[in-house]
Amino acid sequence: MNERLLRAIDDRRNDVVALTADLIRFPTINPPGEAYRPCAEYLGARLRKRGFETEFIRAEGAPGDTDRYPRVNVVARFDGRSPGACVHFNSHIDVVEAGDGWTVDPFAGIIKDGRVYGRGACDMKGGLAASIIAAEAFMDVYPDFPGAIEISGTVDEESGGFGGVAHLASLGYFSKPRVDHVIIPEPLNKDRICLGHRGVWWAEIETKGEIAHGSMPFLGDNAVRHMGAVLRAFEDELFPALDRKMTRMPVVPEGAKRSTMNINSIHGGQTEDFRPGLPSPNVPDSCRLTIDRRFLLEEDLATVKGEVTGILERLKRERKKFDYEIRDLMEVLPLMTERDAPVVKAVAQGIHAIFDREPDYVISPGTYDQKHIARIGHLYNCIAYGPGILDLAHRPDEWVGISDMVESAKVMAIGLNVLLRGTAG
Ligand SMILES: [Zn+2]
Repeated sequence: MNERLLRAIDDRRNDVVALTADLIRFPTINPPGEAYRPCAEYLGARLRKRGFETEFIRAEGAPGDTDRYPRVNVVARFDGRSPGACVHFNSHIDVVEAGDGWTVDPFAGIIKDGRVYGRGACDMKGGLAASIIAAEAFMDVYPDFPGAIEISGTVDEESGGFGGVAHLASLGYFSKPRVDHVIIPEPLNKDRICLGHRGVWWAEIETKGEIAHGSMPFLGDNAVRHMGAVLRAFEDELFPALDRKMTRMPVVPEGAKRSTMNINSIHGGQTEDFRPGLPSPNVPDSCRLTIDRRFLLEEDLATVKGEVTGILERLKRERKKFDYEIRDLMEVLPLMTERDAPVVKAVAQGIHAIFDREPDYVISPGTYDQKHIARIGHLYNCIAYGPGILDLAHRPDEWVGISDMVESAKVMAIGLNVLLRGTAG
């Protein structure tokens, strides 16, 4: 056991708590992308004090980027005494809206019962704080280390990461030779290594109709009824078929080992703007449905799309006046880092040292920024590993355990030691 390194982490227990609470107090809500700049600047100042060189990169023109809501990312780098590999810790600083049901102030950084509470505590400001103290402890114990450590705070992960990691990846920040190993401290639990994620296909389906007076619906053509036929076919055929598909990917939770599809939203006919008045009697001429299909390594995207368009085409043949359009909104291919990739093996050694057990290797049900690092950066030596408990993400009274942060920081520090100095001890 590396007592000196582990003690250096224990000595930073108060530090990781204060850092997490400070980060939570920036209400970096996305959308719209609140408080990104001050949060990035806070991180930059913190890391500069420790000798990191910092860069602030605004994703001008990215979705949502305006002067009121600039997409500001921070990348900090510390070069060791001699050349070597670079380990990059990437965390998103954006959080989802608080929502209802909280018993504490979601943006106060409340500390109680061994936990830090707040929106983003678990997903993923606690993980970001843990990676910072891991790096700082490692740098203090081994001031002569070779290679480099990078820490980034990036935006917009919750809305696809286009103004964050995707933007930085397109500028070369997530490619060799700059970076060799990437750890994303997303909340996948302190003793699990997340190798990747399922694929995603979002699409909008629109059924068409013809407007007419609501007292004489037979004169028009009701787009909502057509969508009803689509939904019925989904219920009768598609959902049961998806439920039968199982993957060999170790996806958690268990239910996500199957193919899934969520009906994300449905809009048809008049908007609700008539309230508090009354609507006018119209036959709706349009109905739009967005679907969120998550698919497996064993499925290919063309087949996934074909299952839906096949149903729509059949309805077009069978159902009078049925017409539709379908628009792709997002496509992400499934991803799984090899178990013998260097970053996987290094973090596994850390987990073994701290918890005296082998890690669980998992796949996330949803995607995260690893997709951009693979697709744009062409770097496949990337995992998610962090202290938060996955099930608490996006929930009311979100929290991160203080001991979990300390333990996962120890794992990260041992990972750094293996990757940069070639030894766990
Ligand atoms: Zn996250």
